[in-house]
Parts: sequence; structure tokens; C-alpha cells
Amino acid sequence: MSLIENIHWLGHDAFRIEAGGKVIYTDPFKIQGGPKADIILISHAHDDHCSPEDVGKIIKSDTVIIAPSDCAEKIKWDVKTMKPGDKLTVKGVDIEAVPAYNPEKKFHLRSNNWVGYIFTVEGKRIYHAGDTDLIPEMKGFNVDIALLPVGGTYTMNAQEAAQAALDMKAEAAIPMHYGSIVGTEADAESFKRELEGKVKVVLLPKE
Ligand code: ZN
Ligand code: ZN
Repeated sequence: MSLIENIHWLGHDAFRIEAGGKVIYTDPFKIQGGPKADIILISHAHDDHCSPEDVGKIIKSDTVIIAPSDCAEKIKWDVKTMKPGDKLTVKGVDIEAVPAYNPEKKFHLRSNNWVGYIFTVEGKRIYHAGDTDLIPEMKGFNVDIALLPVGGTYTMNAQEAAQAALDMKAEAAIPMHYGSIVGTEADAESFKRELEGKVKVVLLPKE
């Protein structure tokens, strides 16, 4: 079974990845619950990404929560904090925090030290971008599967996200950050069209 079949989209930037015997969630927000988490990765402090209520739905006694420090303050459980450039191995999963910001908008300032994550499961490097624009650092990312925001306004739009996937030479890409707060299915479709014949794009159904 391919790794992509084990990536479940829970809406917005929330994913559940079940691989290598681990259950990893990203940015749980308005989720139903589900298998308990081994690792929870949170990209930044905005309420639609850093949701203590949703963390509470999937936490167990040995869950490791990882987040930037200002999000960690909102969560009542122990959190390992990360900032761009940090690396950590948790439960056998290598995790790198990479920059995520808007160079020319004020929503996500670089100085906030918010992050995206590149983490390795089953030998594949999965990148969860968080809320970011197309930034020059992406050319240096080594990524197999890219989870990229396409909704625009606060993040990259579909065209910029397609460029990002090309810049990091991703093998496959999955659009996110559409369908709830900002962005529509049309953005995801146009992301897919932009990358036709270049990068495999998978539009996941929301679970
Ligand atoms: Zn945000
Ligand atoms: Zn967001």
C-alpha cells in the first residue's frame, strides 16, 4: 500500500497519517476524533491550527505534542517547542521545523518563528507547510510528499503552491487550507491542473 493511502485529510490543515506503526496528526481543527495520536504537529498559534479542544480529542498518555512556543502556551499539556531550523527525533520519527511566513503580508510574520514541518515516515519525507507564502527557502527543501496551502489570502494561492511543489521537486502534492475558512475546491482543482504532467497531485476527500 502506498504511503499516500495512509494520509487522511480531516479538513483545513488537519491530517492524520498512519505509517511506520505511528499515528501522526497535523494541525487538528474541528476534527471528529479518531485513533489516538503518537505525535501531534502544530504549525502556529492561530486558532484554526492551534486548537487545544481538538488536541484533547486525540491525546493519550504518551502523545508527544510539538508546536512553536506561543501555541504551546495555549495548550495545557506538555509540549515540545520547535522553531525554524530545529530538528528532533520523536518515537523514531525525524522531524525538522522549517520557516513559514508571509514576506509581504502581516498575517504570519517571519519574526513569529512559526513553522512548517518535514518529517520522515517509511523513508519518505512529508512536508506540512503550515501557513506560508512561496518563500525562497523552499528551493532548499528536500521533500517527497508536499502538503501545501492553496486557498490564497493568508497563504499561497493555487499558482504559487504549484510553483512551490516544483521548487522543492516534490514527487507528490496534496492541497490543503481550502474548503472551510478560505479557498474553495476550485483552488484545489486549479492547483492540480497547474502541475499536470509534472507532479502527481492527489485531492483527498475530507474525512
Ligand atoms: Zn495562520
Ligand atoms: Zn491558516
